[in-house]
Amino acid sequence: MWEFTSPRTIVMGEGALEYLRDVEAKRALIVTDKVMHDLGFVSKVSSYLEQAGVEVEVFDEVEPEPSIETVVRGGELAKRYCPDLIVGLGGGSCMDAAKAIWVLYERPDLSVEEISPLVKLGLRKKAKLICIPTTSGTGSEATWAVVITDAEERRKMELASREVVADVAILDPELPSSMPPKLVADTGLDALTHAIEAYVSQWRNDFSDALAIKAIQIVFEYLPRSYRDPSDGVAKEKMHNAATMAGLAFSNSQIGVAHAMGHALGALFKIPHGRSVAVFLPYSIEYNSSEALDRYAEIARAIGVDARDSEEAVSKLVEAVYGLLREVEEPCAVKEMGIDRSSYEQRLEDLVERAMQSTATIANPRVPGVEDYRKLFLYAYDGKRIDF
Ligand SMILES: [Zn+2]
Repeated sequence: MWEFTSPRTIVMGEGALEYLRDVEAKRALIVTDKVMHDLGFVSKVSSYLEQAGVEVEVFDEVEPEPSIETVVRGGELAKRYCPDLIVGLGGGSCMDAAKAIWVLYERPDLSVEEISPLVKLGLRKKAKLICIPTTSGTGSEATWAVVITDAEERRKMELASREVVADVAILDPELPSSMPPKLVADTGLDALTHAIEAYVSQWRNDFSDALAIKAIQIVFEYLPRSYRDPSDGVAKEKMHNAATMAGLAFSNSQIGVAHAMGHALGALFKIPHGRSVAVFLPYSIEYNSSEALDRYAEIARAIGVDARDSEEAVSKLVEAVYGLLREVEEPCAVKEMGIDRSSYEQRLEDLVERAMQSTATIANPRVPGVEDYRKLFLYAYDGKRIDF
């Protein structure tokens, strides 16, 4: 038995934000950050909500990779303000913080760490959740994932619950139009990694497959355009949709080894999420291909690769991923990220240990042990092809 969970409503396309004009609620708490203020998005969302007769309060203290302390503060505000609608506005950090704040508000007896697929949360007794992404990558608007950082231990907690999937996701292509190119590349590659990992996961299913493969096709076709030309509205809209589709795919399948490694690298060396997972993507494909050759070959064919057999298709897929990374000027190996070898090697055991603790590889086609992880991290540092 398998459950497919998604937002009840996904509003997309030009003018999607206007959906808020007809929202039914009394008091909304917008969970966001200062950048959203400066870009004018908070006032735009507030004004639509006010047109619907909704009172608005704003919590704009979310930092990149939100900490436990931040969401606890947001939870306290929610308990005082008593909203019947929570709006997560921003990138993955803002939306993940909104989910966690929502849980703390509805379940004051719980702590953030207790958010788990195994715990019945009983949400939606006090409020509903609308997520409005302003980047095109994390897919948080459609997923069950909540990534909160334990700042003291520099550890990313990979929390999840089907109940935290938003009621409504609003995909307005005007919002990601203001992303700088580097952020377009980082977030777009995160979406690609979600989709490819979801497609080969052992928990994949026909529904996640369909969303993953379409998202992969869109990213290969439109990410370079979106990166090169900020005014390319078609590419921006396509990438915005692809990110949500990839989110739906992995949320109903699972991510994999590139995310396990990327979370470790990102936490220890402060690398943005998308960049830190995407750098491991080609290596993860080569590593997994002994167990998932035909699945990767299907992906290769879906993006137009012509090959005699599955081996050739997968090797061309790896080349295509490297090609895309270069096209959007992202690193193809860890050594290109400004991390010197000695500090990387010094932290190798820590990287391996963190990756081993990650839940991302539960359903990975090939489950790495300590020795494999050591080699994977070292090969990916040098840009060496996987031969084990
Ligand atoms: Zn990701």
